[in-house]
Amino acid sequence: MITPPYSVADQWFQVIQVTDDLSVTIEPYVHPFLRANIWHLRGSRRDLVVDAGLGVHSLRQDVPQLFEHDPALVVTHAHLDHLGGAHEFDQCYAHPAEALHTPAPGTLRGERLTDVLGLQAAYAAEFPELMVDAAPGPEFDPDSYELRPPKRWLPLTDGDVVDLGDRTLTVLHLPGHSPGSVALFEPETGALFSGDVVYDLQEGEELLDAINGANVPDYVDSLNRLADLPVTIVYPGHGEPFGRPRLLELIHGYVGSRTARSRTS
Ligand SMILES: [Zn+2]
Repeated sequence: MITPPYSVADQWFQVIQVTDDLSVTIEPYVHPFLRANIWHLRGSRRDLVVDAGLGVHSLRQDVPQLFEHDPALVVTHAHLDHLGGAHEFDQCYAHPAEALHTPAPGTLRGERLTDVLGLQAAYAAEFPELMVDAAPGPEFDPDSYELRPPKRWLPLTDGDVVDLGDRTLTVLHLPGHSPGSVALFEPETGALFSGDVVYDLQEGEELLDAINGANVPDYVDSLNRLADLPVTIVYPGHGEPFGRPRLLELIHGYVGSRTARSRTS
């Protein structure tokens, strides 16, 4: 059982309407490092859901609107904060380079998380003992948390199109953060659902490329590819949406630092 001073959350998920057709669901009681965005884009024929959160509480029970319109769930990559709730969806799409059937074990313990993801020890010092600061229900036991594979998943590869009826999105395979990271790009609007390939960074933060499965040269190539696309707005795996100027700033910051590092090493 989760112990005091943690309390039971009234509402585990928070749903924020972003545009007429787009909302985002977040888990406010999850530590920011694992607090991922669950994007929900309405289509005329079916909906798109991008990523499924940590999986500590039922999306189907608390956010039923995600499931109402034949949703295609795209898991951008198999890290616990994106894959956790995927088992609740009937159809889940992901890149075959991600270990969906045998994901790394899930944990809500900060110290163990550092091991599981292969993070540098500096993170362990910053993580709290538990990566949630409330319980989703009175019976919650953080040590019984496990990452469950999806019921059924279908492979997505670069260039595939996700057709929602009145809108279509193109799949981009952008390895670097993980081997099978994908993003979804809507050419008509310039919208990019980027997963963890790129998200806005706070002062002192860096894109995560020193974890299990990450690859710096691939990451550089993937971000260079994104810079050449006519992206107007990014809906990232973590944090707030941002526009093209910030996207280019983040890409140039990363590519510049990693290129400089490879020249001096
Ligand atoms: Zn990730």
